[in-house]
Amino acid sequence: MLACTQRAFGILLLGLLASACTAPPAGKRLPTSRQAPYAFDKDRTIEILPSSTAAILEVTYHQRNVEYLLEGTEHALLLDSGPGKHKMAPVVASLTNLPVTVVPSHLHYDHVGGLAEFSDVALPDAEDLRERTVDGVFVPRANENLGHLENEPRNSIRVTRWLQHGEQIELGGRIIEILVTPGHTKTSVMFFDPKMPALFTGDFMYPGGLFVESLEDYRNSLTMLLKHVPKNVTIYPAHNTRARTVPTLSYEDLADLHKAVSAALDGTLIGKPARAFGISSMGYPVNQRMHMFVMGPNLSGLKM
Ligand SMILES: [Zn+2]
Repeated sequence: MLACTQRAFGILLLGLLASACTAPPAGKRLPTSRQAPYAFDKDRTIEILPSSTAAILEVTYHQRNVEYLLEGTEHALLLDSGPGKHKMAPVVASLTNLPVTVVPSHLHYDHVGGLAEFSDVALPDAEDLRERTVDGVFVPRANENLGHLENEPRNSIRVTRWLQHGEQIELGGRIIEILVTPGHTKTSVMFFDPKMPALFTGDFMYPGGLFVESLEDYRNSLTMLLKHVPKNVTIYPAHNTRARTVPTLSYEDLADLHKAVSAALDGTLIGKPARAFGISSMGYPVNQRMHMFVMGPNLSGLKM
């Protein structure tokens, strides 16, 4: 009991202080070791990863989103709720009976579409987001949500928690660190599990074409990540599995991305005009697994 109480002082317990020292409830729990992917339904495949972690693959959605469920003995975290094409809560309920907090990796429509199915939703504690939250309800702007690109609704988000950069979330025998990593968007977040070790990156990086809102922010976030995560980290991204298995990237990919972003900023890597999602951008190679499209205000300062 003492150890449990001491632990609670330094670490957020997600409101579970009362139950943190009791035995875990019986029922559905994630296996601790990797298991072969299986179909939840015709639209979603579930892949069990190591350390009580599951990937939910949206195999019929054209963007091939992947959501991640991370479970401790007391609580679970879900990174992203998907585009909302199909109900997400029943998939999660098939995997765990623990209380779940959902954290969207960012506010784009393909990551927040299912948030309303969950009662506990956390966003990064950014002043701008807080200021625009009224009575616990946050409404993303059109350019934060981008649903108009595919005629998807721009839903409001009921926020129950605000997360700090570096905050450590105790799930019960498992600590997940929240990393705020601007670049793809201003308020993008990742999960870092130092024990696995694994980084769940959302859209910050995945195999394929990355959308860069700010090169400077990307460089700063990548500089932080290269110092913060170990070289044997496995990177689990939120998109682009052509097979029915989770796509992974490595520390080397982080380093290559840092190199490409830095070179684009200092003009030693020359971009080519490109269109992505119908929007003008500059395209840059990164490595064999990734390339990037630089969008928006960055364009004016770049060499072509
Ligand atoms: Zn996305």
